[in-house]
Amino acid sequence: MPVAYLDHAATTPPRPEAVDAMLPWYTERFGNASGVHSLSRRARAAVDEAREVVAQALGARPGEIVFTSGGTEADSLAIAGVYDRTGGPVLCSAVEHHAVLHACTARGGRVVGVDSNGVIDLDELADALDPAVALVSVMLANNEVGTVQPLDDIASIVRERAPKALLHTDAVQAFPWLDVAAAAACADLVAVSAHKFGGPQGVGALVVREGVDLAPQVLGGGQERDRRSGTYNVAGIVGMAAAAAATVASRSDTVTRVAQLRDRLADGVLAAGVGGRETGDRARKIAGNCHLRFDGVESEALLLLLDDAGICASAGSACASGALDPSHVLVAMGLSRAEALSSVRLSLGWPTTDDDVDLALKAVPDAVRRLREP
Ligand code: PLP
Repeated sequence: MPVAYLDHAATTPPRPEAVDAMLPWYTERFGNASGVHSLSRRARAAVDEAREVVAQALGARPGEIVFTSGGTEADSLAIAGVYDRTGGPVLCSAVEHHAVLHACTARGGRVVGVDSNGVIDLDELADALDPAVALVSVMLANNEVGTVQPLDDIASIVRERAPKALLHTDAVQAFPWLDVAAAAACADLVAVSAHKFGGPQGVGALVVREGVDLAPQVLGGGQERDRRSGTYNVAGIVGMAAAAAATVASRSDTVTRVAQLRDRLADGVLAAGVGGRETGDRARKIAGNCHLRFDGVESEALLLLLDDAGICASAGSACASGALDPSHVLVAMGLSRAEALSSVRLSLGWPTTDDDVDLALKAVPDAVRRLREP
């Protein structure tokens, strides 16, 4: 049976470049990168090389990269690290991934609202800021609806109203689609995760700009210049760098191609006569996001029928799927509980093809019709 993988926002298939780069570090080159002998030194050299590649892709210096176990840890290190050094206050937008939202609210952080497209309310942000604020966290692109935030405008407001505050951005979903080096140049802390751009799961990075002081959250052997201890995930780091390089090299072509596929998919489903509606302004989204809702159709039931038809999709963030609570992102955007629970996210990625879109163009309306049958 043909399968269309349309869940790239949850995780992407590994790029062949990443798999090839990783294999030797799982086999004959297994040394611990912190040791003295030649196997270790070789592993260390690979980590250093990968650090340069990742730094370049993110517009940072190699010494500003802290490798982590993924996006969640990178976000957590940014927020907890600043909070523990300064005592806060911290604040974030209402549409952040739970990795940011929970890290902020657990520290008494204030949550700033968004408009119906999921764009942060800049007036509310300005009102929430004062010179005591220590950290502001606003994502570059949203994981559920794909909305890109006006980060430069946000940075200007933060610099004016809270000059001591650090700006953190979760660029986990943005990296496959946006030139994060440029788009996040205004941020002091930038989080990315390898498995969202063809690298392995369980590895990520936080850009910590020079001069930014963070309290380490994982203590131990002092790796990553004492900012994050733990034996290096050499294979993961090498795979992340290979995936980052491949992503950057092909990004503009991928964005053009995938945006066309996404438009064909969204427009086709909306025109299929099954009452579909699109969430958020497409012009403000990353290229791979197609977020639709169908009144009266339960998203969990729709996902199961789509799965039977060979479509892998999701109803919001993968981390929250399985829960029956409506997505906090959709609720923050003003959708009703019923609307939020009738949503489906079809997320495209670098390997998505016309065949995938053709399959979905048939399967999605068919599944919605079936669920509407009396
Ligand atoms: N931030 C965003 C925007 C995400 O979409 C995700 C994963 O879905 C994360 C953070 C967490 O990243 P990881 O899965 O690497 O922990």
